[in-house]
Amino acid sequence: MGPQTLRYGDATVTYDVSKRSGIDGKVSIHVHPDGKVVVDAPEDAGPEEVRAAVRKRARWLVGHVEKVRDRQRDLQPRTYVSGESHFYLGRRYLLKILSMTAADRQAGTKPGVKLIRGQLQVITISRDSNVLKKLLRHWYREHARKLFERRLQELASSTPWIRGQLPPVKLLTMKKHWGSCSPSGSIVLNPHLVKAPRNCIDYVILHELCHLKEHNHSQQFWRLMDRVMPGWRNVKRELDDRAEILLND
Ligand SMILES: [Zn+2]
Repeated sequence: MGPQTLRYGDATVTYDVSKRSGIDGKVSIHVHPDGKVVVDAPEDAGPEEVRAAVRKRARWLVGHVEKVRDRQRDLQPRTYVSGESHFYLGRRYLLKILSMTAADRQAGTKPGVKLIRGQLQVITISRDSNVLKKLLRHWYREHARKLFERRLQELASSTPWIRGQLPPVKLLTMKKHWGSCSPSGSIVLNPHLVKAPRNCIDYVILHELCHLKEHNHSQQFWRLMDRVMPGWRNVKRELDDRAEILLND
């Protein structure tokens, strides 16, 4: 059997069938991390039987392959064209690049980014990817600054050792870290963090606030984390799972 095709709604999934001896009479479907689909079938299964088994799970399979393809796409370097996915507060938004018109100019519109009708609209004079990247970075940074300051203020009420004295916060784009805390007590946060869900942002801020009391990852530090955010382990896992995509710009 050569490559087979499943059509489901608008979606098409191609899969290879691998005949296996010694499997217990069931057809099993595997989606590899690169999006390739392999269907294991018992040696005596006919093509119709295999097709029927795949069709039965079509909805799951199409959804799963789409997710894997999205992830692959999200890990590619950004090209800053309309339709590309970008993230904000844990949600996916499609980019819409609009060239600045004469009317825009007359109305005093400046190049910039707006979150509007579920899209990240960029109004720009140039479609050069470096220009677009800069406009988006600026937008993310502004939103990060405002949100991080507000959350820090709110979360500090659950970390009594701060005693109303909020630490200075700096933004710094980092490749691998979400935040850090200096021995002198200032906090650094990665503006890319504003692309993560709100609970993940809170987790990073609370982590750094705990470092103001415990400047290490000792038992006491983790006890403090358990106290201020009892479910932090799950939140951290959620952030770790997304890190590669969110740090990719
Ligand atoms: Zn730490």
